[in-house]
Parts: sequence; structure tokens; C-alpha cells
Amino acid sequence: MPRYQPADSLQSPRFTGVRTFARLPHLQTTEDVDLAVVGLPFDTGATFKVGARFGPESVRSASAMLRAYNVELDVKPFDILSCIDYGDAPVVPGFIEDSHTAITATLSPLAKAGIVTLGIGGDHSIALAELRALSAVYGPLALVQFDSHGDLWDSYYGGHKYTHGTPFRRALEEGLLRPERSVQLGMRGSVYDAEDLQMARDFGFTVLTTTELLARTPAEIGALVRERVGDALAFLSFDVDFFDPAYCPGTGTPEVGGPTSFQGLGYLRACTGVHWVGGDVVEVLPALDHAQITAHLAAQVGYEFMSLVALNKRS
Ligand code: MN
Ligand code: MN
Repeated sequence: MPRYQPADSLQSPRFTGVRTFARLPHLQTTEDVDLAVVGLPFDTGATFKVGARFGPESVRSASAMLRAYNVELDVKPFDILSCIDYGDAPVVPGFIEDSHTAITATLSPLAKAGIVTLGIGGDHSIALAELRALSAVYGPLALVQFDSHGDLWDSYYGGHKYTHGTPFRRALEEGLLRPERSVQLGMRGSVYDAEDLQMARDFGFTVLTTTELLARTPAEIGALVRERVGDALAFLSFDVDFFDPAYCPGTGTPEVGGPTSFQGLGYLRACTGVHWVGGDVVEVLPALDHAQITAHLAAQVGYEFMSLVALNKRS
């Protein structure tokens, strides 16, 4: 059995204990670890509502609900993967580039040890820092992005290059991504210009709007993702504003008219057969998250990602 596993919720109630993701042990080690959850509590890259710095705390709290067996994917991820909650990166509120440096420094030893990282955000700007750490080890990565926004804009507010709307533009410029192997799912809402979605396609991304996504079944999307990513090493970046705000109210830039939690999780679970080296779930803003609806959903997204990684390891 894997060395590090969650507390057994049939032995001790899920509401007991110090909160970690999925009741995993909180350890800062790279020994005998397959997957590490890392909190990335930075939110001053946000362009609208802020407060996602408390996202990791809330997702950890909600993740106490997670149980050992994934019914839909027929896997017990913690029987296959040794998993830990590594704690949080020491971000610097208000100072995005310093925070990115801290996040990359936190993730780098994990990546170098071949450990799959699961970042819990935090606003989406943190993805750039994660990709820097992972690409330094693995080379440019395929990106599978669930999001209502492309986050490929060049700059905000008179040329500012580092925001939660620009991380993948910077990642492209830094050579961290393989756009021809990358997929963006769920784009919608008003954008700044008629060319915004075409820009992503011109960079080489496969882009599906929410309307295009929902016209396809999860099996069709899974096949599309496998075909696009191929044998590339991949990073999952899951912005919870992919979901309709009715299912995901606690987020900073909500876009109405999105997938339900049922639909979105179905699409994510369909992404089997991809060689994931890291992932994240971002943009959880607890102050707006009555009943922890968003935090529970984000915790589930993290669990599905762990399950996909476990399925790969099993096969
Ligand atoms: Mn978004
Ligand atoms: Mn985003």
C-alpha cells in the first residue's frame, strides 16, 4: 500500500482532526510521495473580486467529505498513490512577481522528485508559477484548461503583464507550453474583442466555447483531449468559473450560462489516458461561497484529478 494515505473516515469522523486536503498527512517531504497537494493562497492578480487567498483553506475544509472510492472512475486513488498535503507556498500579498517566485521555489523540489503537484488556488495568475516549476523539469507541457476565460490576454491597465487574465500568454512567451497539444474548454461570456477567441486558435490552441462543449458528450470530449494531447506530458488547469455560478457562486469573475457541476465533472472524468504531471484548481473565493458550494466542488475537482493520475499509474 502507498506510504501516505488519508485518515480512515470509518474510524474517525470526517469533522475531526486538523484540516488538510482529503484528510491527508501534512508533510513537507519528497520521500516516497507520488502526489502532493500545495496551497497557493495568492489573490492580488485578480482583476475583479478578490479573496481567493482563502481558497485553499476552504477547499481543504470541504475536502473532508471526500471518500476513498471514486464510483464513476472505478478507482481508489489513495490505494495507488502516496499522497500528502504539503502545506502552502509563502506568497507575498500584493506582489505578484515575488509570489510567483515563491510558488515556483515551493513546487520545484517536488517536480524534480517526479511528484505530481496539485495546486489549490488562489487566483489563476499562479498557473504561470506552477508551469515554470514543472516545465523546468519536463520541458514544454500540454495544457488542458477548464475555464470560462482563455487567460491569454496580453496585459491589463496600461501594460501590466502579470494578472489572472494573462498567465498563459506569459507561459507561451516563456516556452512553457505546447499550444498545438493544448485544449481550452468552456469559453463564454462577453469578451473584449471579436478576435479574442481566434487569438487562442491562432496561437495553436484547440478552443471550445461552452456552447460547443455542451453539444458534445463526455466521451467525445475525452477522445478530443486524448487526440490533441497525444503522448505529451500535460498540466490540468481548472478555473472553477468554468461552472455556472449557480453551481459555483464563490468565485471572482463569474460568467453566467455555464455547465452544471454534473456536466463539468463528467467532462473532467472523461480525460483519462493523459499523462498528467501536475494540475490545479483555482479561483475559489470563500467570502462569496455560501454553504461552501464552490469549495465542495473544487475539492471534488481535485479528487477527480487524483483519480485520473491514479488510473494512469494503475495502467
Ligand atoms: Mn476564468
Ligand atoms: Mn482563469
